[in-house]
Formats: sequence, structure tokens, C-alpha cells
Amino acid sequence: MAVYDDLSPYTYWTAEEGIEVADLNVGWLGAGEFPTGPVDPAFLAGLNVLAELPVNATRGTHDCPFCAQAWGNAEIHVLGPDRTIYGAPSLITHYVDAHGYLPPQPFVDAVLIRVRAFWDTIERFDPPAAQEAQFRMSLRWFMGKALTWSLWDAAEVINGGPVSKETFRDFRHWLVWQGSSTFTAAVCRPDTLAAISQIRNGLPLMDPICSITPLAPAEPEFYRVKGIARTQRFPNLTALREAPEGS
Ligand SMILES: [Zn+2]
Repeated sequence: MAVYDDLSPYTYWTAEEGIEVADLNVGWLGAGEFPTGPVDPAFLAGLNVLAELPVNATRGTHDCPFCAQAWGNAEIHVLGPDRTIYGAPSLITHYVDAHGYLPPQPFVDAVLIRVRAFWDTIERFDPPAAQEAQFRMSLRWFMGKALTWSLWDAAEVINGGPVSKETFRDFRHWLVWQGSSTFTAAVCRPDTLAAISQIRNGLPLMDPICSITPLAPAEPEFYRVKGIARTQRFPNLTALREAPEGS
């Protein structure tokens, strides 16, 4: 794969080729040394979202030069606040996640601004902005992050009965619309859902986009996490609902 210094002028493609060009290079790593360091988890989350909207795909692929366990065949372009377009190989998510690559700060900031724009749309409750492709891509990615057994199990505790995969999808959609801090807390520790007033008071969960999505009982499909009792895993939620043991 082509190797370029971070923040050097982008030259991989030219506009004459009828392709989306960037201004500056980021993350075109070769087998040599590169800057490493911890990154804000929100940055990696944003980068993963952007990786779902790659540009300039090629027919050939490039293997990771460090482990050959990952490959890419496209680029991620990120628009900075000063209108600079940063062009990175799609492998950059793997470089950051698996090899500790620390991209230059202006690029990190540009990605974080995009993540903030997503949560701002949520927190402003802006349905027109929620129709944009970038937003919908982010929404799908965050809903995917909430697709965990633990959260599914917690939804059943809230529901007092089985929750189908369709209902759990609606529940995750509702959860993203609760905003960044509630969402993040619930994905990391589902028992924090007990602090939400609708759940505490046993009210239907009002989804601002899809009207009402109450968790509906008595649906046949459900996951059950074996092992530790629900009362131990979700002490606050089970105290609210006094649900029967699910394990
Ligand atoms: Zn690798």
C-alpha cells in the first residue's frame, strides 16, 4: 500500500480521475514506526461509523503490514471544521484499535466533531437532520453497539417477560434517542436503566421518532444469559420489577 507521512498533501488519486480527493493524508502507515498512544473511545466509535461510509474503493485489497489479520480496499474521508478533507485508508480503524496508532490531533478533532454532531441531532431532537445518510449510518452503528445479551436480558427484566428481536431493536432505537450519556451508561452497565423515570414508573417507552414502542410481553423468542442471577446482575432493575429469576 502507498505510504505517506501524516498531514502530507493527498496525492493517491487526482480529481481528473473523477474521484473524491482529499487534502491531507492520515494513517497511510508502512511497516516502519508510527506514533502510538491512547485515544478517546468516542474517537474510535466515530471512526468506526465513518468506516461504514468508505469512498474510493479499489478492486484490490491491502493487508495490514503489521499483522496481516485485516485488510482494506477503500478510504475514509473526514471533513474538518476548517473545510480540510482528511483522507485515510479504511484500515485506519484497525491500526488504531489493534496497533495503538495515534492519528494527528486535527484528524482526531474532526472525527470527534462528527460524533458530537450525531449526538447533537439526538439531543436537539432534529428529525430533518435525522434523515441524512451520515446520521442514519451512525444510528445503525450505535444500535449495533447496543446489541448485547446483557442489554437484551435487562430489557426482559424491564418487560417482566420475553422480548422478541424486533422489540429489542425498537428498544435499542429508543435507547439511542435517550442521548449519549444514557446510552453509553446503559450499554456498559444495563442496570443504570433503572434510573430512567419511564422505566422506574413502569410507563411505555416513548420513542420520539417511531411513536410508541412499549416492550411487549409474551413474545416467543428471547435470549437468556446463563449463570449469575438477574437479581445480582441488575439489582436496581429487578428491585423495580421484582422479576422472576431468569437463570
Ligand atoms: Zn494489523
